[in-house]
Amino acid sequence: MEGENTSLTPQAGHLYVIATPIGNLADITERARTLLERVDAVACEDTRVGGALLSKIGIKNRLVPYHDNNEASMAASLADRLEGGESIAVISDAGTPAISDPGFRLTRECHKRGLTVVPIPGACAATALLSASGLPSNGFLFVGFLPPKSAARRRFIQEHIDFQYTIILYESCHRIEKLMTEMVDLLNGERCVCIGREITKRFETIRSGTLSEVSQAFNDGSKKGEFVVIIAPATFTL
Ligand code: SAM
Repeated sequence: MEGENTSLTPQAGHLYVIATPIGNLADITERARTLLERVDAVACEDTRVGGALLSKIGIKNRLVPYHDNNEASMAASLADRLEGGESIAVISDAGTPAISDPGFRLTRECHKRGLTVVPIPGACAATALLSASGLPSNGFLFVGFLPPKSAARRRFIQEHIDFQYTIILYESCHRIEKLMTEMVDLLNGERCVCIGREITKRFETIRSGTLSEVSQAFNDGSKKGEFVVIIAPATFTL
């Protein structure tokens, strides 16, 4: 349609990497909603989760599973479809695809074939907490999840004790107590940190301060839900 913002009209052979909410449905963007409705197919980490999201925002579309276990083969088959002239969106269960979620293999495959990859930005737990943390945000290292084994986790923390930029970690409710114990064991109690729990959700809790203060508040609070942990550089003081 003349005058229409062409970014709202999916183009043949374009992959749209679409961020979805991390807990608050109102965080879906207008571009995300429109493109999810208009693309030829939506590749989802979990088709039940993707289907539930689409139905909550009143959209129907064809869903294709694209997850950790089929990423390699599906990346090629989705890229084939894009080469055949389809437009495809990729979403993950929550937040931005390819950020501690499936997406990387597909975007890489598209770039290898000269296909256009379009980011449709929105929620991301790491940047949401960083923006509200009150900790240095001029430079940061996003690590995602630390490895499950204690030795590797402790080694990472030790190796980054003097790291000059802020560090952002993801953690599940199953390991968040372990992570707090490791931080308390290895870092100075005056180190500035921030913990965000259930960001954008009903029980959102954000605590920022020294490790001693934040770990005390953490011990006194609920350990349920999803967590982001931020560690400021050792040189930063409140
Ligand atoms: N792609 C997502 C993003 O853009 O943030 C991250 C997906 S990763 C599989 C899931 C992890 O992200 C959780 O274990 C938690 O560490 C973090 N996370 C996701 N949503 C969150 C929320 N609402 N509050 C706190 N952390 C969250």
